[in-house]
Amino acid sequence: MSRKYSLFLAFEKLLFEGAVKKLWPVKGKLETYRYFCAAFMQAINQIYPQLTTPKKIVVTMHQKPDGDAMGSTLGLYHFLIQLGHTVTVVSPTNWADFLAWMPGIKTVLDYERQTVAADKLIDEADWIFCLDFNTLSRTKRMEEKLNKATALRILIDHHQEPQADKFAYGASDTAKSSTCEMVYDFITGAGYEDKINVAVAECLYTGVMTDTGSFRFPATTAAVHTMVACLKSKGIDHSKIHEHVYDNFLENRFRFIGNVLLNRMEVYYEYNTALIAIPQSDLIKFGITTGDTEGLVNYPLGIKGIKLAAIIIDRGEERKSSFRSKDGFDVNVFARKYFNGGGHVNASGGQNKEPLEEVVKMFIQAMKENKEQLSNYEF
Ligand code: 5GP
Ligand code: MN
Repeated sequence: MSRKYSLFLAFEKLLFEGAVKKLWPVKGKLETYRYFCAAFMQAINQIYPQLTTPKKIVVTMHQKPDGDAMGSTLGLYHFLIQLGHTVTVVSPTNWADFLAWMPGIKTVLDYERQTVAADKLIDEADWIFCLDFNTLSRTKRMEEKLNKATALRILIDHHQEPQADKFAYGASDTAKSSTCEMVYDFITGAGYEDKINVAVAECLYTGVMTDTGSFRFPATTAAVHTMVACLKSKGIDHSKIHEHVYDNFLENRFRFIGNVLLNRMEVYYEYNTALIAIPQSDLIKFGITTGDTEGLVNYPLGIKGIKLAAIIIDRGEERKSSFRSKDGFDVNVFARKYFNGGGHVNASGGQNKEPLEEVVKMFIQAMKENKEQLSNYEF
């Protein structure tokens, strides 16, 4: 055990046994704790000098990867193979069909279906890059394997409250639009802008496009547009990428959306809130697969006055929820407090084991508890 880690553990013990309680009021205590956790994970630029030595690398992301998770992992893959590393992308689960066009996607392993092969790669890896998630539980059945891995875990992520003690090196920045932007920073920061070929650029563009709502959300900074200018100059066809991702659904999805908006959406005007609750029978009836429900939670946010939009889907093994908000209502806190989840200020999610009706009741209760904040909305 390193000296730094022993010191950290001793400090943590002191804090939580209350020995230094008088010195730290609760809030300060947690902040200090987080500071120490963060100090434990070394800055990612510390690994730049090691990039020139070929390594065995696994790159992974959160379960049910979205455009940013798949874009950042494959973008990093296409970069690292140019430096002579042996790289495999492993997804904890399957992924949506609208990602099937992505360069390199056929090399991605699905941990649930190719567990033996993936476990072997994890056992043999020198480095495991963890992208677009920051708590190991977001990798579902892969969590235990990742936790026990002897390889160095390296984090690149833009969510709140990283499990920093789980990563040897990392970049964690909630101000970033997307993990793809952070991979771009990683590549350019290490001095390899010339290695951004069309494949890298297409992957990174996908994630920054999807995570910013096509360059609409507040995190779309000038730096994001500068990055996009660079990616465009590498030869990407941005209209085609948009088409691949957004114009590639089957008819059943639109029939399903019609049904959802007509029959499954409740609007609570008093709370400036809308909720969509989808029973599993709807998913079966309309033949809904991974990715078909992506973006559905944004529809109610288009209703004038709606500040909080939620969707709860009965996926059989769990009830999966997504939350979106406008302005100040913090759905990261909301998801953490009531739905075992997390995410960002304006986009978060969670999951529950209780039946759908129960989770709906929990949501209504949570909404009522937040009435003051939800109702006082300036239009
Ligand atoms: P989505 O609603 O698109 O699935 O997720 C929105 C955001 O919330 C993403 O940044 C995602 O990583 C985060 N998120 C979604 N579900 C969960 C969850 O169950 N736990 C945590 N910690 N974050 C989640
Ligand atoms: Mn992301």
